[in-house]
Amino acid sequence: MKLYNTLTRKKETFQPQDGKTVKMYVCGPTVYDYLHIGNLRPIIVFDTLRKYMERFAGWKVVYVQNITDIEDKLIARAAETGLTVEKLAHRYTKAYFDLLEQLDVKKPTSSPRATEYIGGMIELIKTLIDKGYAYESDGDVYYRVAGFKDYGKLSGRRLEELEVGARIACSTKKKDALDFTLWKAAKPGEPKWESPWSEGRPGWHTECVVLSREFLGDTLDIHAGGNDLIFPHHENEIAQAEATSGKLFSRFWLHNGMLTFDGEKMSKSLGNFAYAYQVLEKFDPETVRYFYLSRHYRKPLDYSEAGLTEASKALSRVYALIDEVEAEFAAGEEVEVGLSGREFVDSLGQFRERYSAAMDDDLNTVAAIAAIQELVSEANRFRKTAEGQDRRALTQVTGLIRELGSPLGLFQRERQTGRDLQDELIRLLIDLRAELRIQKEFALADSIRVRLAKLGITLKDTPQGTIW
Ligand SMILES: [Zn+2]
Repeated sequence: MKLYNTLTRKKETFQPQDGKTVKMYVCGPTVYDYLHIGNLRPIIVFDTLRKYMERFAGWKVVYVQNITDIEDKLIARAAETGLTVEKLAHRYTKAYFDLLEQLDVKKPTSSPRATEYIGGMIELIKTLIDKGYAYESDGDVYYRVAGFKDYGKLSGRRLEELEVGARIACSTKKKDALDFTLWKAAKPGEPKWESPWSEGRPGWHTECVVLSREFLGDTLDIHAGGNDLIFPHHENEIAQAEATSGKLFSRFWLHNGMLTFDGEKMSKSLGNFAYAYQVLEKFDPETVRYFYLSRHYRKPLDYSEAGLTEASKALSRVYALIDEVEAEFAAGEEVEVGLSGREFVDSLGQFRERYSAAMDDDLNTVAAIAAIQELVSEANRFRKTAEGQDRRALTQVTGLIRELGSPLGLFQRERQTGRDLQDELIRLLIDLRAELRIQKEFALADSIRVRLAKLGITLKDTPQGTIW
């Protein structure tokens, strides 16, 4: 499989170091708020990569993702809401794991919380000071960027260029504007830990180095995240890791492109913004996955409801085939299964090959999905022919669709029974009611609630959405 490596700026053949187990680290959420739709992209993309490696490449993947439960944003949010940092982190960590489950994202092998590894972070900072890469200044500790000769190798930024840009925002405690914080002394009332320098907390860049090495060793196979993390976050991780171990920190660096909202940069103040749970109130999780995977992960992705509606239609087209074929097969035991579709069955191999070639080419999910959609077209054509009643041939198609869809988290839904359909219909009414309320059609919205109540179905509005 080939993957684009940000470090070398080219596609390279990927193999795990030991040929069997992929050591993969993906930067995780800062748990101070619900995730927004931009945060969903790395989650879905790297989950797909992991599952493809496990199910098609035959590798084991150790997938580590941190939970940042101490950071400036958490402290600010706690002050705003009156909650403790701990309570706040607990609330949004739970929301995060609920979201992963909803989106059929496989749970990370390990999800270490930063606050459980403060001791290891202090050790790393001590080593950096001992080796001359860091210095203490009035209770804070900073990394001396000019002391690390490879600084800038991931982002391709040269130290001299950075110096010019950084001059404006220079803290008086730093020796150089480029130096970044490893340890920060606590202000009164802030959460704090004992250290040789002050009572305080570690910086975010230190956290990922310590947590990845704790679980995966000095050299990772893959370090991944959004391309907004390349600089300074990942650059600063390399500076700490390689200065202390003397080894390459990660062999591959993978970065997903950013999300725009209806063609604009996402911005809360401009209203170009949506939380992940808001999207999932309108669209089912599988549609959301389809939408995110229908653009190559390194390209920018423009979020729009029209795009999601398209994804939903494309998904329905595949399920129309699966559901019909599986329903016919379930109902048609008495009908003899012929072999007239053998030629057709033989032609299916090419779709599997096209799918694998696409996924092996830097996780080209766009081409992989296109291969599956063409397989559906082929099957629909075959059904109209004289041999098209060969159910065994058709169930081979649906079996193949389910197999190829598995790493993508698509086409796994079982054929709907009456009970599932009932659930979906109630969901539909709930969504309609929410839409009516947004449009201030309160009387009509309420009549949905009242009429459902008459059928014995009670709606309850919660901060996470309406339940019944
Ligand atoms: Zn990180």
